[in-house]
Amino acid sequence: MEKGIRIAELFGKEDKYTGKTVRVQGWVRTRRDSKAGVSFIELNDGSSLKGLQVVAALDRPEYRDVLERITTGSAVLVEGILSPSPGKGQAVEIQADRIELYGWADPAVYPLQKKRHSFEFLRQIAHLRPRTNTIGAVARVRNRLGFAIHQFFQERGFNYLNTPIITASDCEGAGETFRVTTLDPLKAVQAENPYGDDFFSRPAYLTVSGQLQAEIFALALGRVYTFGPTFRAENSNTSRHLAEFWMVEPEMAFYDLEDDLELAKEFIKHLVGVVLEECTEDLDFFTRFVEPELRGRLETVVNRPFEVITYTEAVELLKKSGEQFAFPVDWGGDLQAEHERYLTEKVFKRPVGIIDFPRSLKPFYMRVNDDGKTVAAMDILVPGTGEIIGGSQREERLDMLLEQMKLKGISVEDYRWYVELREFGSAPHAGFGLGFERLVQFVTGLPNIREVIPFPRTPGHAEF
Ligand code: ATP
Ligand code: MN
Repeated sequence: MEKGIRIAELFGKEDKYTGKTVRVQGWVRTRRDSKAGVSFIELNDGSSLKGLQVVAALDRPEYRDVLERITTGSAVLVEGILSPSPGKGQAVEIQADRIELYGWADPAVYPLQKKRHSFEFLRQIAHLRPRTNTIGAVARVRNRLGFAIHQFFQERGFNYLNTPIITASDCEGAGETFRVTTLDPLKAVQAENPYGDDFFSRPAYLTVSGQLQAEIFALALGRVYTFGPTFRAENSNTSRHLAEFWMVEPEMAFYDLEDDLELAKEFIKHLVGVVLEECTEDLDFFTRFVEPELRGRLETVVNRPFEVITYTEAVELLKKSGEQFAFPVDWGGDLQAEHERYLTEKVFKRPVGIIDFPRSLKPFYMRVNDDGKTVAAMDILVPGTGEIIGGSQREERLDMLLEQMKLKGISVEDYRWYVELREFGSAPHAGFGLGFERLVQFVTGLPNIREVIPFPRTPGHAEF
């Protein structure tokens, strides 16, 4: 295969390549034939948002036979001299000496003709939507963030940990878990030994979080992080929930809630900073076409301190706001998306950390505060998205853990290993979970989370 150069490389180093013969390969976005006898082809190879303008004389015998088949969506190779462009909108263009057609796209049926398509429509053609400006830009930003996450933790001495995807513990996701089984659901199950013939001889699930296993390694290696898929069968058809999503979960020994919060802030600021500095072209695109406030919002995150309030203070603020919420606010009740967004968008206009939630609202492993009523939990909310991080200091005291388990009906027998971590060399520790798609949604401004994962899984949808 004759390898070409990536278009992004040409844009970065115009001086190096101008006047030289270059070869590029990509997909035709548009083609326009001028009266002056040349064809202008916009070629995109996915390396950048912007495509390269190809200028092809219509009467050149070298490629005349293929030129008429160069339609929107076609895959082509172009070779020619890179020249300064007299046209507006680009610094350089390529004067084609040679054009090869790899694969044609019939304009009568190729769905991505030059016009705006709805996101709903694009989801139905998820095999083609990465070729659009928006989904291509999301893929590049998502990629950059994935790398930045590893960099952030690696530079701080964290160990990358892979926790299981199939698990027998379902404590967190009661009612929200997917079952994993090799049994045929259409065949009757023996009532006296329902799991006897099943693969694991016991109920098994897809993980909702790698936290409990991450704690095991945090209490040995000190600092670990997971970055993997998680699954929740929540039947909520919202714009910020997926049934399959990726979660980043750092877990640190000898950290308390304050340290945890500090790390989470630094983490978000770092990731948003990377996007601001290194994804400028894609970010400008999102700010122009998706969310006008986007760039300003991201700059605020990097430049201004986060606000931190307790759950009790949050409830007071919401109560005296005079706002008409669909869900009433009362101490002890869960904060709904509308409440979260009101706090971060209207009251503080920047990211907000909420700490010390009622004990009854949170899982058994969160550390009970001295008041006996709240736990050392934290949620971080950002404008436009709401909750992006959920975390806590974990209960390291054996007696308190057992009390919590009893209160929440968690079987000590099933979590023997978790309890033993408090019996053998227990230590204070804390961690959090960042929803990777919520982060990508936040930095791209896209209204629906289904646009920021390559192949979204939601109730009724598992196509591709
Ligand atoms: P929410 O209240 O928004 O449903 P949660 O409290 O259930 O979130 P956690 O269990 O704390 O979330 O999970 C940690 C993080 O994972 C959340 O802060 C969020 O960023 C992300 N997350 C949770 N559920 C989903 C989901 N269904 N789809 C995408 N991301 C999710
Ligand atoms: Mn949830």
